[in-house]
Amino acid sequence: MLRRSKGNQSLLTKPNFIRRLDGTIGTALIQEICPLANDWSIWSYKPFCIGPAEGEDETGPADCVFTLTAFRGNQGISLITTPDLAASAATHLDDSRVPRELRHQLVDTKHQEVEGTAYEIKDLPGRGKGAIAKRKFAEHEIVMVGYPVLVIRLDFLNGDRLTEREKRVMLETSVRQLPPEQKRSVMSLARSTGGEPILDAIRTNGFGIEIDGIQHLAVFLDGSRVNHNCRPNSFWRYISSSMAMEVVALRDIRPGEEIVHSYAPLGYTYEERKAVLQAWGFQCRCALCSASIEERNLSDRRRERLLEIHHILGQADLLGSKRVGALIIEAMGLIDQEELHPQLVEYYQQFAKAYMALSDLKRARAFVTETDKMWSLYGGEEHENLDGMRDLWRALEEAEGEAEEVEDF
Ligand SMILES: [Zn+2]
Repeated sequence: MLRRSKGNQSLLTKPNFIRRLDGTIGTALIQEICPLANDWSIWSYKPFCIGPAEGEDETGPADCVFTLTAFRGNQGISLITTPDLAASAATHLDDSRVPRELRHQLVDTKHQEVEGTAYEIKDLPGRGKGAIAKRKFAEHEIVMVGYPVLVIRLDFLNGDRLTEREKRVMLETSVRQLPPEQKRSVMSLARSTGGEPILDAIRTNGFGIEIDGIQHLAVFLDGSRVNHNCRPNSFWRYISSSMAMEVVALRDIRPGEEIVHSYAPLGYTYEERKAVLQAWGFQCRCALCSASIEERNLSDRRRERLLEIHHILGQADLLGSKRVGALIIEAMGLIDQEELHPQLVEYYQQFAKAYMALSDLKRARAFVTETDKMWSLYGGEEHENLDGMRDLWRALEEAEGEAEEVEDF
């Protein structure tokens, strides 16, 4: 966690700490040459950077504020990240990246009521705001597509390269440079941790995304209004090529139903979920958490058993084909009962590996194929998914190659 800054003293009282690229704060400031200094033409403002205090360690990348107000139909985006990562992200900012069928959502967001939006953001009694379905959604249908207004490198927030006050100036700049409507929306987001409002809003509403494999927190305005439920009716996936957060129906959703997804990893037991959700400062009162102790314990036992099967299958070579088959059927039943279908990504992969260990390559190939399908359905386009999938295919193809050689022999 971040150390929180004390008091309201502005960073600007220490101008010798600031090296701002455009030098507008004062001539006493030293200008630093940013790697993008000659090519910041795509951004709406010159990148705003703060260097470390004199005499301090200058290793590690320096973060700057990059803003593009025309991003996604004038929604706007501000990034606090390194110039290299900003240059990489810049390739995803063009609206031509957005699939044709989703472009109608890219209207000028000044007209809040977007034509065709199939959900509405409503005040819920005693629970802040929430997203309510305006029509029926079928399983796996996209309910909501959103693009981030803020993207902040995690190490900028957690590191101590800059003081808390310097971080605050960077964060304030990133929000100030957004179009007015989005700036207001960021300031009205739910908060939970106390302290600096912008930092609190980012920690409370940020989703983990990656740019070139580096962790960032991204704030999606409507996406932030999707509340938590331990047995959700939707899940979210991130499409890195267009920077889209897609909220997708996990099952059929009725009109008037609240759209909810899980802030905690799926498959956790009651106590594990409780511990994770403390970070958001609330105690979950969903149907699963407020069920009778017997019912809750039964759910916990199923979840523990599922995890146990995952571990056992790690040693499939000691089990034999019949036992592996029985465990897979049991696991599939548990996933259905607990409605943990996004975990199929993880389980199909484990099933594939188990059959590879048993040299049952026909079944292994069937589960690798299924894993691939589940990744694109539930996982989206994150790098780690793609890498894991490539490794799995490679392992299968190597095993198949070896099997062929043995046959030829
Ligand atoms: Zn719950």
